[in-house]
Amino acid sequence: MDVIFLGTGAGAPTRKRNVSSIAIRFDQSREVWLFDCGEGTQHQFQRASVSPAQVTCIFITHMHGDHLFGLPGFLSSRSLQGGSEKPLTIIGPEGIKSFVTLVLKQSQTNLSYPLYFEEITTDGQVLDLPTARVECAALVHPIKSFGYALHLPDKPGRFMVEKAVAERIPFGPLFGTLKQGEEIELSDGRRFSGKDFIEPPVQGKKIVILGDTSACPAAVELSRDADLLIHEATFAPEAAKLAAISGHSTNIDAAITAKTANVRSLVLTHISARYDDNKASAMLAEAKEIFAQTMMAFDFYQMTV
Ligand SMILES: [Zn+2]
Ligand SMILES: [Zn+2]
Repeated sequence: MDVIFLGTGAGAPTRKRNVSSIAIRFDQSREVWLFDCGEGTQHQFQRASVSPAQVTCIFITHMHGDHLFGLPGFLSSRSLQGGSEKPLTIIGPEGIKSFVTLVLKQSQTNLSYPLYFEEITTDGQVLDLPTARVECAALVHPIKSFGYALHLPDKPGRFMVEKAVAERIPFGPLFGTLKQGEEIELSDGRRFSGKDFIEPPVQGKKIVILGDTSACPAAVELSRDADLLIHEATFAPEAAKLAAISGHSTNIDAAITAKTANVRSLVLTHISARYDDNKASAMLAEAKEIFAQTMMAFDFYQMTV
């Protein structure tokens, strides 16, 4: 799957970084899940070769404006585009439904597609969606902020063609039967079970996207053994006190969480507007000293997981 960073700044947009939004495009279904929708996200879509019509789920981590204020515009514009009759589900903290419905009602906006809501009411809530199982955890921030762990389904194990060929099993329908894990009998009387020709399933990926948060045990627990952790790094270490007071993390906090949780890779995002490119590079280097597999997101940064 592809992870596309549409907005990587904190609080307010700058020339280089728009406010928060991350798109995940799944390989098979090509559907897109959006995580947060800061103001201007619909403009970022136009530059990122992702179509709003592909978006089937929007997860809002928390109700702060830099994660939310692009949502009404996005929903409205999606209505005007081809293929936009596909339903859309918005998942987020309590209040997301009343926020969206009030804006749509007062602006007399009629959408061309069905809109559904799923409000997260309890810490640890799990959503069993066809594309992935999503685990929700409450983090530490001045308002309720969630982290989402996406558990993708396991992939079936590979069929060992070479083993079947070595056993002189004829190509054709018998291969298909073996692939299904069923038994076959050859004309020479030999019997085989498909289970012996299929490798163990490949464990599905785990991707964790955290809302704004201070360093906390819940972030570590949710991120345990993830293939990818996307963590805010609003502040540099010299602003650690400010980070703690405002419910945010430093680059060092994020790196320690990644290391403690034994994730495979870490991406830092939600960088304060006070830091220029040089400072951001320094923050990345500092984080790498603690957790080597760290990257820093920038707008339109795209990675394949
Ligand atoms: Zn924020
Ligand atoms: Zn916030």
